[in-house]
Order: sequence, then structure tokens, then C-alpha cells
Amino acid sequence: MIMNKIYLDNAATTPVAEEVFEAMKPYFTNSYGNPSSVYTTAQEAAMAVGEARERVARLLGASSDREIIFTSGGTEADNLAIKGTAMALKSKGNHIITSKIEHHAVLHSCQYLEKYLGFEVTYLDVDKKGFVDPIDVKEAIRDDTILVTIMMANNEIGTIEPIKEIAKITREKDVCFHTDAVQAVGQIPIDVNDLQVDLLSLSAHKINGPKGVGALYVRKGSKLTPQMSGGAQEWKRRGGTENVPGIVGLGKAAELALENMDNKNKRIKKLRDRLISGINKEIDDVILNGPEGEKRLPNNVHFCFKYIEGESILLNLDMLGIAASSGSACTSGSLDPSHVLLAIGHPHEIAHGSLRLTLGINNTEEDVTYLLEVLPGIIQKIRDMSPLYSV
Ligand code: PLP
Repeated sequence: MIMNKIYLDNAATTPVAEEVFEAMKPYFTNSYGNPSSVYTTAQEAAMAVGEARERVARLLGASSDREIIFTSGGTEADNLAIKGTAMALKSKGNHIITSKIEHHAVLHSCQYLEKYLGFEVTYLDVDKKGFVDPIDVKEAIRDDTILVTIMMANNEIGTIEPIKEIAKITREKDVCFHTDAVQAVGQIPIDVNDLQVDLLSLSAHKINGPKGVGALYVRKGSKLTPQMSGGAQEWKRRGGTENVPGIVGLGKAAELALENMDNKNKRIKKLRDRLISGINKEIDDVILNGPEGEKRLPNNVHFCFKYIEGESILLNLDMLGIAASSGSACTSGSLDPSHVLLAIGHPHEIAHGSLRLTLGINNTEEDVTYLLEVLPGIIQKIRDMSPLYSV
């Protein structure tokens, strides 16, 4: 198989960092014991899980490592946060507030609660740049509201939401607040005590850790009904033998994310801004989605190109060795445009022409130069074939 020379889809997943892979290895073959067992090799595994928990707690500024619950990824963390809170607090109320641009792990968890368990969900609008207005959250809170769940940063268009402002409102109203921070962790500094969130989801494979492992931060005192019934692992909040190598990998990735955040993000932000200004300058009829500057994820570039389909851009980039994404969860084979692009007000035909480029630790100035060299020609070629386009 021919490898893509240039990987610009780091929001989908990231390569496992060498240090992370090295840290994980012993827990496959040497210290492979079950952390619940008593003998030495098992206790080595249990200690490694404990150390990883401390590292994740440190990355988030949590008060205690007991506030970290390991899961099988961001999707499970979102499910546990939303369904677990709903079930634990259903005697208090049955109303949940979220936004229209959440990841499907959040939207489908909310829809599940509506469909099967009789909860009511308010889906808040966002503005043209993808921002949730904290005033809208305030106005939507009712006496029976038990949970607000708003993402920290959007996985398609990179908008960083006003989480601190929203948390202030939920705290005043004594409503639990969850944030899906899967795309924000490692990209922007996070301190759960400064932000005052109650629950926060993250995923290892977005921060150069392994796939299939994540965590949910649960503020001390939060009520949560387990969604995975089984053993007493994770303080009875998530049954199942721990994925020890995965958790060790997440811990190492969290440590590296904290150490490298400033330098990495300064560098990546420069590449992002070069891509944005280059595309704006070289190609006509483009729309930058999401905000510019500090309220945009440092690694996110997302454009709509009028008159064409995002899928054909991806195929043409792939032929030139560049891996990218349309940004939408619905990939090939689906005619549905992105719910995020519709929510920020694009009509279907514009929403279909999207391209997301997301940068990571391995990207260089040369990658950006190459992309900017080839993209204008690709867009022109596809437009020349498009019945919607006339010069
Ligand atoms: N939430 C957001 C915002 C995401 O971007 C993703 C993955 O793309 C998820 C949740 C799901 O995470 P995972 O792939 O670890 O299940």
C-alpha cells in the first residue's frame, strides 16, 4: 500500500508518538497481569494504571486522580456522562440541554434518552461561526433541567466554545455541566477547576495516544449511574478489566501533551494561519468556516469551496499523497451534508463542498507549501467539470 506522504487529518486520529508506544510495550508482554489480582506482575500493571491516572488528572488540573474514569474512548466517555447523569438524576428532572453542532456521540446519546427513556432535550442553535451563546443556555434552563452538555471545541470547524461562561451559569442554577473536550485536549490549556465543569470527556487517539481508550473526568460529588455493568473497577463506575497498555499509552500521551503544549501549538498555529491565508488568496469563491484567531483550534482549517463536492477534492488530494477530510462524520456513500455546516447556516450545496485540514506534530512548513501548490489546480479542475460552475 502506498502511504500518504502528507497527513492532514489529525482531528480524525493521530499517529501514536514513539515515546507512547515504548511506554506501552511492557504491558503487553511482561507486566501483563490483571490489575485486580494480587501477585507482582498484576500489581505492576495496577501501579501503571495509577500513574496514568495521575498524568491525566494533571493534564486537566483535576483535584484528585480519583476524578478520572478510564473508558474505551471519547464515545464511551460521552455516553457515560450523558446517560449516567440522566439516570442518576431522573428523580430531579428529565430535561437536558445541548447544541446542534455536537459530535454524534453526544447527539445520539441525547436522542437515545428521548426515544427510550422519555427525556426532553433542547438543541441550541449556534451563530454563523459556530458559537453557542451562554445567554441561550441560561434562557433554556428550566426547573427540571438536570444536565447541560456543550462541546469544548468543534471537531469540524474548530470553534472553541465559551465553556467558562456557560459553566458559571450552570453552577448558579445548580445544573450539572458536561463538556466533550475530545478535540480540545492537548490543543488548548484546560483546568477543570478554573472552568468549573463537572464532567469532561477525552480520547487518547486524538493526542498521539492509542485508539480505543479515553477518560471521563467526574468532579467529586457528581452523581453518575454506571453504563457498563460488571466488576468493581474504576470505583464501581465502569466495570471491565482495564485496558492496561492503552491506559498507559493515554497517560504518556497526556504527559507529553502537557509538556509540549506551548511550543507545539505556537508552531502549528503558524502553519494553520499560512494555510488559511494561502487558500483565501489563491482560490476564489471559498468560505472559511469557524472563527479566526484565538477562538479557533490551533490545528484546524476548514473551508467550503463553492460549486463542487468535498469528496472529489479528497480523492484528488489522495492521488497526490495528501490525506485530508471533508470534516463531516458522514463520509462517502452518504448524501447528508454535515449537521454542523447546516447549523451555521449553509445551504446544502455549499455544505457539500467542504474540506477540513487538521495539523499535527509531524506536519512541516514543506507540507503547507505543497498543499498550497496543488490545491488551487485541483479545485479548478473539479470546477471545470462542474455543471454548477461558470467562469
Ligand atoms: N467527540 C468528539 C468531539 C470527537 O471529535 C470524537 C472523535 O472524532 C469523539 C467524541 C469520539 O471519540 P472516540 O473516537 O475516542 O470514540
